[in-house]
Amino acid sequence: MWAEIAKRIRAGKRFIVTTHIHPEGDAIGSEVALATFLEDQGKHVTIVNSSSTPQNNRFMDPSHKIKVYPKDYRPEMLSEADQVIIVDVNNWSHVGPFGDEIRESSTPRMCIDHHQGVDADFADVVVSDTSAAAAGVLVYELIRDMGGDITPRIAEAVYAAIITDTGTFRFSNTDARVFRIAMDLTRDGINPFTLHRQVFSKTAAAVKLLGAVMSTLEYTSDGKLAWIHATRQMFDSASADYEDSDGILDIVRSTKSVEFCLFFKELPDGRVKVSLRSNGTVDVYEIAKHYGGGGHRMASGMSVNGPMANAIKTVVDAARKHIPA
Ligand code: 5GP
Ligand code: MN
Repeated sequence: MWAEIAKRIRAGKRFIVTTHIHPEGDAIGSEVALATFLEDQGKHVTIVNSSSTPQNNRFMDPSHKIKVYPKDYRPEMLSEADQVIIVDVNNWSHVGPFGDEIRESSTPRMCIDHHQGVDADFADVVVSDTSAAAAGVLVYELIRDMGGDITPRIAEAVYAAIITDTGTFRFSNTDARVFRIAMDLTRDGINPFTLHRQVFSKTAAAVKLLGAVMSTLEYTSDGKLAWIHATRQMFDSASADYEDSDGILDIVRSTKSVEFCLFFKELPDGRVKVSLRSNGTVDVYEIAKHYGGGGHRMASGMSVNGPMANAIKTVVDAARKHIPA
């Protein structure tokens, strides 16, 4: 699986690593683990993302090396690089604005990802393993395959990636593969308690936002479909950022009756980001794909036009057709 990527890594000297907009622990963890490994091999690496790193993942980048496009970007970065490596995303719209630069540049690119479906022109080499619980699992396996050392920095980043995407070993993607890796990382010295707190502890603003958002909860069809929303006004009055809305939908999903659920988040530009989560029967990827989004069967996302009331009406009406009998 890794032969072509390993070959290009060995041959290259300069690398750009990137991931999706609104990166979370799997995105940042995969980037940091991969970049650290490449640097340990004597390579020059620049991580450039379309969004800044959320607070709860900054511990993985203690010397603030992750650059944000377009603020910290210089065009030479792409033209001088031998390869771009894109992790935890497989389509251009979800890479965000930096994706347009990559797409237009002639720098060869590779993709290491675990989502459904891949854009046709996304990369020259694609490792797409939808059975991997996290992109961090794939990065870990690549490093091991290439005989690299799992240093403390890499171990911590891979663990953060895994606990983010498995909800700390609770989601349906939790399997023997992640437990085996977690066991190795724990033996290598990571501290599961500290890392869990770092990744999942909430800001006071997030808890305040949670209260406001929960009061918007609506159900239909005996509670099989549920949805919540967050307006700009709710974000502002809680002094909350986009990232503070992470995890709220998991509480809705944990409701016994819920087969699948939706979270509508008003973005600063007026568009509405929709997160979708399933408990197994409903394939939410199908719904997200229809709206130009993507993800996995059990967890997907997409953006739709505002205003909020229209977004909710349109998407909930479409979602009703997926409610199981
Ligand atoms: P979340 O709802 O937490 O933002 O994302 C859930 C899953 O869907 C993640 O795997 C994420 O990468 C994917 N996802 C979220 N939004 C989008 C989107 O707009 N486009 C695509 N392709 N994937 C998305
Ligand atoms: Mn992921």
